[in-house]
Amino acid sequence: MRETGRFAPSPTGPLHAGSLVAALASWLDVRARGPQARWLIRIEDADTERCLPGMGEHILRQLADCGLLPDEAPVWQTQRTARYKVALAKLQARGLAYPCGCSRKDIDRALARLGQRHERHGERVYPGTCRDGLHGKPARAWRFATEKFESDRPPTPPVPWQDATAPEPASELCWTDRRLGRQCQNVSREVGDFVLRRADGPWAYQLAVVVDDAEQGVTDVVRGEDLADNTARQILLQRALGLSTPSYLHTPLVRGADGDKLSKQNGATSIDTATPEAALAALDAAARVLGLHAATATSCAAALAGWVPEWRALYNSRP
Ligand SMILES: [Zn+2]
Repeated sequence: MRETGRFAPSPTGPLHAGSLVAALASWLDVRARGPQARWLIRIEDADTERCLPGMGEHILRQLADCGLLPDEAPVWQTQRTARYKVALAKLQARGLAYPCGCSRKDIDRALARLGQRHERHGERVYPGTCRDGLHGKPARAWRFATEKFESDRPPTPPVPWQDATAPEPASELCWTDRRLGRQCQNVSREVGDFVLRRADGPWAYQLAVVVDDAEQGVTDVVRGEDLADNTARQILLQRALGLSTPSYLHTPLVRGADGDKLSKQNGATSIDTATPEAALAALDAAARVLGLHAATATSCAAALAGWVPEWRALYNSRP
């Protein structure tokens, strides 16, 4: 398969220093593989409630100012909902997706009855209330039947870059990140039956990403470390839908003044790409987060070309 990477920003705000790191890393990872490899851009606007009008186009301009141009026309998730419907229907037909009528309050009450305050990053682990039906409530969401799929899942398919000497424990899903190393998660216990779609509203990130990566032939996912936590869920969906699993590399995060991941709340501002000098400075800062040397070139294109062999030596050691 043709090696393919992508950058997939959500148009909830302009590119900031943190998102530029992920963009640069995914671009370098593709260019380090040679001229046959493809770098794609996908605007992740499936969660329509959080997206700002015109922001996707703005991000594309910012990337272009930095010399980060995709090899094909960008795709927009809102134009791909028919594909998500097909995937959800597949899971429904196999009994791996079911409707849930619980509000947040319902979930809290059910967890309290179970004597659990199951919270993970402030998110409730769904207690499975609607697994046996809606009990007269209207459906609010479609959920993936994590426990059901995990309990009778087929043996782990061999993945070439995974460590064959470390088999996956039955209760856990394991994968090897190209930077973070081996990662394992008990998805049933730590995440539970997660949402695939909210009622007739927006598609959940997990399902949209898995469908899009497969359909676009993405072989190598390079993205920010804040998304590493989603990987086990996405691999589970890939297996449930019979799709292949790409390799993963999660890049270091840029921290805000408070030490947390850079976000709009702690001072992430848009990168400045108004002049070629400003764009080069933004790229240079992103390169430093990735452990690359400062650019000696005076243009974005020359700086990018200079980092390609350095990236190859640092990260592309996969056989
Ligand atoms: Zn429910």
